[in-house]
Amino acid sequence: MALVSYIIGDCPSCGTPASYGNVMVSGYALLRGCLKCKHLDRISLPELKKKVIYLDQFFFSHAFRGQDKMFIEAQQRITNLALAQQVVVPYSNLHADESQLWAESQRAPLLKFIKQTSLGHRFSYEYEVKNRQIHRAFQSFLANSPTTDTVERADALRRDVNEWDDYVWIDVGNFSNEHGTLKMRKDRSVKALLDVFDMWASTNSTFEEDVQSEVRSCAKSYIEHYVDYLKSIAGGDPGALLNANENSMMIESLLRYDDKLPAHLRMQRIMAFFQSDYFANVPEVRIGSEFFALLRQKLRQGEFINKKKNRSRFSGLFYDVRFISTYAPYCDAMVVDNLMYQWATDPLIDLPKRLGVRLFSRNNWNEFLTYLDELESDRSPAIDDALKMIHPVGA
Ligand SMILES: [Zn+2]
Repeated sequence: MALVSYIIGDCPSCGTPASYGNVMVSGYALLRGCLKCKHLDRISLPELKKKVIYLDQFFFSHAFRGQDKMFIEAQQRITNLALAQQVVVPYSNLHADESQLWAESQRAPLLKFIKQTSLGHRFSYEYEVKNRQIHRAFQSFLANSPTTDTVERADALRRDVNEWDDYVWIDVGNFSNEHGTLKMRKDRSVKALLDVFDMWASTNSTFEEDVQSEVRSCAKSYIEHYVDYLKSIAGGDPGALLNANENSMMIESLLRYDDKLPAHLRMQRIMAFFQSDYFANVPEVRIGSEFFALLRQKLRQGEFINKKKNRSRFSGLFYDVRFISTYAPYCDAMVVDNLMYQWATDPLIDLPKRLGVRLFSRNNWNEFLTYLDELESDRSPAIDDALKMIHPVGA
C-alpha cells in the first residue's frame, strides 16, 4: 500500500473502490498506487526545458512588501510558470543573508516567501560554486590546457532542474540568526569601499589594468586567509580548524593535488596559478573584478560624487556583485536593480553578450513582461496534460 495523496478511482489490481491515485512525482515520472495493495504504476512525464531565473533581493523585497503592483504581478506570474514546470527560481545563500538584515519580525516570513517562489530549488552555496570553478581552472593549469574557462550547470545547481517538481515540498532549512554579524560586516565593507572612492577617482589606469588589479587582490586575499589559518594552527589555537573560513580551505584543497610532490613545490604551483590567466579567467573572479573596475572607471569619469547619496546607493553593492558574479553563468535570465542592469550591460562587461543571460530591471520592465508572455505562450499540450494528471482539479 502507498500513501496516496489524491484518489482518482478504483484500484486496477485489487479492485478496491476509490483507493487508487497519485502517490508522488519523482524525477521524470508520476507514481500512482493503491491504498490497499502493493500495486504501483510509474507514468513517464514529458521532457522539460525549464528556464533558470534569478530574482534578486530587490525584486523579492518589493513583491513581499506588497505595495508595488508591478512586482506583485510579476512574482505571481513567475510562481505560476514555476508550477507549470517552465521555470525554476532557485534561491541562494545571499537571499538568506540579505533577509537576515531585515527587522526581526520580517526575516523569517520574507525568506519563506522567497523559498515558496523557488519551490525548494536552491543554488549551491557561493563558496561551493567558486570552489568548483577554481578547481577546474587549477586542473587546466596543471594540464597546461587552454585558459578559457568553462562552466557546467552542475557547478551551481546540483539537482537537475528539468526534473518534474512535486506539488508539495517541505522546507527543511533552518533559519540561523546572524543579524548582528552580517550587519556589521556589511557596514564595514561598504564604509571601506566608500573610503577608497577619492583615490580611485584620481588614479590613472585603464579598465583592463583595474580588472587585473582586482584579480590580484582577490588572489592575495585567498593567500592571506591561508597564512592566517596556518598561523593560528602553529599558535596552537584549538579552534583553528573549526574557525577556518572557506578561503583558507580553498588553498588547503588545492594542496591535495599530487600529494607525493613535496609540499613547498605544491605551494609554489598554487602561487603560480594565482598569478596566471587560469585564475584571472575563473568566471566568478573575472566578473566580480570587472564590476569593481567599472566602478573605478565611472569614478574617474566624475560620477558618484555625492557622498551622502553614495551611502544608500552602494549599500547593497557587495551582495549584488556577489550574486551576479557567482550565478550569472548558470542563469537564463536575471532580474536586478537599475544600477546592476546598467553595469552588467555596459559594453565593457556586457554579460548578456558573453553569457547569453537575459537581464531585466525597472529600466526595461516591458521587455521583462514580454519575456514572461513568451514563456506563458510556449506551453506544450503534452505538458499541460501531464500537469492535469499531477495537479487534478480540486486537489
Ligand atoms: Zn489495490
